[in-house]
Amino acid sequence: MNNLQALVRPNIFRLKPYSSARDEFTGKAGIFLDANENPYGSLNRYPDPYQRELKAKLAAYKGVNPANIFIGNGSDEVIDLAFRIFCRPGQDKALSFSPSYGMYDVAADINDTELIKLPLRDDFQIDTAALSPYFNDECLKLIFICSPNNPTGNCMNAADIDYILQNFKGIVLIDEAYIDFSEEISWNQRILDYPNLIVSQTFSKAWGLAAARVGTAYMNADLLHFFNKVKAPYNVSQVNQEVAMDALDDLATYEQNRTAILQEKKRLKAALKALNFVRQIYPSDANFFLVEVNNANELYQQLIERKIIIRNRHKLVNNCIRITIGKPEENQALIKALQGLQAEMMV
Ligand code: PMP
Repeated sequence: MNNLQALVRPNIFRLKPYSSARDEFTGKAGIFLDANENPYGSLNRYPDPYQRELKAKLAAYKGVNPANIFIGNGSDEVIDLAFRIFCRPGQDKALSFSPSYGMYDVAADINDTELIKLPLRDDFQIDTAALSPYFNDECLKLIFICSPNNPTGNCMNAADIDYILQNFKGIVLIDEAYIDFSEEISWNQRILDYPNLIVSQTFSKAWGLAAARVGTAYMNADLLHFFNKVKAPYNVSQVNQEVAMDALDDLATYEQNRTAILQEKKRLKAALKALNFVRQIYPSDANFFLVEVNNANELYQQLIERKIIIRNRHKLVNNCIRITIGKPEENQALIKALQGLQAEMMV
């Protein structure tokens, strides 16, 4: 990649990374007296810093090369690392679209980087005409595209993403945390076509492992080199690696849960549609709905009082709430509460 040196922060480009005991000797057999570990116990050894076994399983499932996979402590780690690798604090900029996932703002602030927030169009798609002048800004290093987007639920148009990838010389990070719920093909199949493309995914959503903190990112090996340099040496614990591998070994459970969520999504949508205070349910490629109601603040409060917690997104999109698809009985409780509120004209 010819412009990588121009994109990576100079100190990161030059960085000599920490070399751990597990970096220096990678064999499994032998007497290990090299890492100041405790010789007793079952979790006494440091984990594989490059998560090779997990990557091999994931690579086979996703149809990518293990050399193109990065594993993070959740995909939030990938977002933070992207700032740390590409954005010189106080100097460079990143860009995201609004409304979108709140961590882009927080990670930008932590890394002292200006985040340009370009409003999505009314249909929540990217306004490419408004975006293209920014391509000339030499300090703009990073564009986040969340697809399916949180909180709106829609995938971004493939033609618009292609246009950005072809015209922007910086890094494009497509956040696909919710891709497993969508019919769209992942952009991870295109990483070898676009040297500046990073695609992040996660085990937190469709794989049901939010507590374990396992995120993934797909990119060409030249870019990945810098993620490996900057990450904490043992960023994904042995326990986390194992539960992610267990999930990949049990695809039947994954499919069963995903199918159940998608079926419930249809049922919940029909029930929401029938409520007179629901103005609009936005099309969703994810495991949640953004719903416009008459009074989001009031509805949120009323549901809290009934011990049902949804997300009030009124500050991001006027009078909108975000509802995650739960188990059938949880969705049923929500539907019942909403019907009750309608009958009592509480909202
Ligand atoms: N991206 C998006 C769009 C999200 O909504 C979330 C979680 N809410 C994440 C990334 C982070 O996921 P994790 O760190 O659990 O992988």
